[in-house]
Amino acid sequence: MSESPRALMAEKAAKLDAADELASTREQFVLDDVVYLDGNSLGALPAHVPDRVADVVRRQWGELRIRSWDESGWWTAPERIGDRIAPLVGAAPGQIVVGDSTSVNVFKALVAAVRIAGEGRDEIVVDATTFPTDGYIAESAARMTGCTLRPVDPARVREALGERTAAVLLNHVDYRTGRLHDLPALTAAVRAAGAVSVWDLCHSAGALPVGLDEHGVDLAVGCTYKYLNGGPGSPAYLYVRRALQDVFDSPLPGWNSHAEPFGMRGAYEPAAGALRGRVGTPDILSMLALEAALDVWDGVPVEAVRAKSLALTDFFLECVAAYVPQGGVESLTPAAHEERGSQVALRCADAGEVMRRLIERGVVGDFRAPDVLRFGFTPLYVGFADTERAARVLADTLSR
Ligand SMILES: *Cc1c(COP(=O)(O)O)cnc(C)c1O
Repeated sequence: MSESPRALMAEKAAKLDAADELASTREQFVLDDVVYLDGNSLGALPAHVPDRVADVVRRQWGELRIRSWDESGWWTAPERIGDRIAPLVGAAPGQIVVGDSTSVNVFKALVAAVRIAGEGRDEIVVDATTFPTDGYIAESAARMTGCTLRPVDPARVREALGERTAAVLLNHVDYRTGRLHDLPALTAAVRAAGAVSVWDLCHSAGALPVGLDEHGVDLAVGCTYKYLNGGPGSPAYLYVRRALQDVFDSPLPGWNSHAEPFGMRGAYEPAAGALRGRVGTPDILSMLALEAALDVWDGVPVEAVRAKSLALTDFFLECVAAYVPQGGVESLTPAAHEERGSQVALRCADAGEVMRRLIERGVVGDFRAPDVLRFGFTPLYVGFADTERAARVLADTLSR
């Protein structure tokens, strides 16, 4: 009996779902009947977060008011939540502080990196394919520090490094193509050149192991509203390797990172440790929504997330190859696992219109100009049947 490709793939999806160790984490999220493949842009809502946020608003703010800075742990939230993110990115405690946006943290990290690199080093190397904000801020940071900006393709970073390189800002995963860059090797090369590495983890944290401590990364930043499901505009984080904390000289020294914040001194004296990365009063409502959202990671090894992510993206590519006629789409995402993040980017004609129709039919990805369909796979709540359905709807949409 010959079966259709669709029946075969559906059967395969059912088997993969049945064997999925992470299948039960999906119940912790609020998801209706859509296939949500946009968690690389805004993660879904964990179901327990609204009640926790309501408690923060009604009780902590409404009843305890000013006492909550102390009694509800508001003041220490940036470091405490940093320590919850730490194991997800391979960092020991005391090196991550949560606050501000990724854009602002890129600025802090990059200027601090140039200051650490010291005299005679006056070039900033930046990933030429970077997310725009990183490029804009690198350009401004270069101007402010008297450096020359050198945008280079990540594949050519090694050739660009030299005695004059101060800092190197790279993305762990390319936001457009989903390409995973070789963080261990590139970090080692930057170190060997005597420069300071700054990694943007927006598209890797929560999707794959990062190994910040293990690989000797100097500084790193990332957002929390993508794979970490912190909510729209939830605060970002800044990692400062322990060995660099004493020489981390923030370009935004606010009262929150003062050694004695309530001393109200005229002269700035930085606090010890990661909290040097703090600036002003933290955004408590967003920050505590994030803290609640991080509960879904309890007992979830990031290695299991990575294994499922690769299985999902493999399976999606397999279904797309089986369903979409040759030439209908072109994958920009590398086939090799060691070069793939947790998304699949497909190029096709009329991509904006194709994505609009996909969303209408309950398959939510996003469109990046001029011609890219992005599908983010969040292993905590995307399954294999979802993945098969997404490929099926895509093939139907393209054939219309
Ligand atoms: C999402 C993303 C950002 C977002 O920066 P915000 O300051 O949060 O707007 C920055 N860099 C990269 C690589 C991203 O993917």
